[in-house]
Amino acid sequence: MAEFSMDLNEDQITVRDWVHEFAVNQIRPVAHEWDEREETPWPVIEEAARAGLYSLDFMADASTDPQGLKLVLALEELAWGDAGIGLSIVGTMLGVAGIMANGTPEQQMEWIPQCFGTADDVKIAAFCVSEPDAGSDVSSLKTRAVYDEATDEWVLNGTKTWITNGGIANVHVVVASVDPELRGRGQASFVIPEGTKGISQGQKFKKMGIRASHTAEVVLDDCRIPGRFLLGGKARLDERLARAREGARSGEQVAMKTFESTRPSVGAQALGIARAAYEFSLDYAKERKQFGRAIIENQAIAFKLADMKMAIDASRLLVWRAAWMAATGKPFEHGEGSMSKLMAGETAVRVTEEAIQIMGGYGYVRENPVERWHRDSKIYTIFEGTSEIQRLIIARSISGMRIQ
Ligand SMILES: Cc1cc2nc3c(=O)[nH]c(=O)nc-3n(C[C@H](O)[C@H](O)[C@H](O)COP(=O)(O)OP(=O)(O)OC[C@H]3O[C@@H](n4cnc5c(N)ncnc54)[C@H](O)[C@@H]3O)c2cc1C
Repeated sequence: MAEFSMDLNEDQITVRDWVHEFAVNQIRPVAHEWDEREETPWPVIEEAARAGLYSLDFMADASTDPQGLKLVLALEELAWGDAGIGLSIVGTMLGVAGIMANGTPEQQMEWIPQCFGTADDVKIAAFCVSEPDAGSDVSSLKTRAVYDEATDEWVLNGTKTWITNGGIANVHVVVASVDPELRGRGQASFVIPEGTKGISQGQKFKKMGIRASHTAEVVLDDCRIPGRFLLGGKARLDERLARAREGARSGEQVAMKTFESTRPSVGAQALGIARAAYEFSLDYAKERKQFGRAIIENQAIAFKLADMKMAIDASRLLVWRAAWMAATGKPFEHGEGSMSKLMAGETAVRVTEEAIQIMGGYGYVRENPVERWHRDSKIYTIFEGTSEIQRLIIARSISGMRIQ
């Protein structure tokens, strides 16, 4: 049994510092520009690919840290640089997580490299679950996948919404209903590579924050794909559906399986924004003088910063715990993944708001980044399960009851 330690090992520190340098040199200087442009920052993604940060090798290495910390350390630093650009760099990971959670080993080998491409030919992926009428209630997806036995093809129809990298991804991982009567247990995931007919981008959304990350609808109109693009394969799906029809717990809800595994990573990004705002406003509070003294010399300001620091550290402990549990195969018995995302997301919103307050008018204008960080932070209480849904998961797991 390994001794308890809060010390990061050399490998983890190297990764953290390397990503931090990238954030300082390649992300921070252009964060404002890409927020204003509201476009995918391809030059930064390409730079990340050249540096090896946007690559299958790095993601695989970071995701297989025995203690689970390398990935969350990297994500905190990326979002510290800028959350919108950070999400453009790591948005692919959601699609990859969908393939990892539901694909066979052969499918993982085939598709995951295609999600990243190479440093010379960068590719990105998207994970498409949400629909106009199915957000928090993932079990009510209307997108249908119908099997055509004659051609051994699946035919997909429906509209996905709010999809990160939607319509511009080279690989879309789509969750669709194969048996609507079974609701969440009658769903399956499919891979749709670029060039497939019948998949297109719908409207692109103009957002409040993370504006350097592309978010759009994905429309599936008689989109035909070979049978082997069903993740997990037909035999496993048929078996799972048969069990679900018999009323036995199938134990698999394809979308939920993916989200559970990615929550600490989402929490880590929120943490990065919160830390950026805390550091910036701490420096400002020491510099800014009113009534002949630095504003931090007033308890009203100093206590805000004390609370901000405490909430950030508490969030990090929850993120690290969840990441460590996931890496060491410990089940989230009390919603530990949800706790990490919920706490870090709400902390980011509160801390960035307090940072604006500490800076007064200077915090409210675009020449300083804190207003952007506040706008960016808000998504972390909404996507990958809203704060209310995280509380439901925690409440149900601690009570064992069907809390509504
Ligand atoms: C920028 C952005 C990027 C996104 N990226 C992706 C992506 O890549 N892939 C993807 O599939 N989705 C993505 N999403 C979708 C996101 O996951 C959903 O927006 C989210 O799950 C909430 O769904 P909804 O917006 O339909 O809200 P709703 O589910 O309609 O919720 C509205 C409100 O009601 C509350 N509520 C709902 N049900 C309950 C309940 N049972 N108890 C208590 N309160 C409840 C919610 O908490 C919320 O406050 C993205 C969204 C955004 C905005």
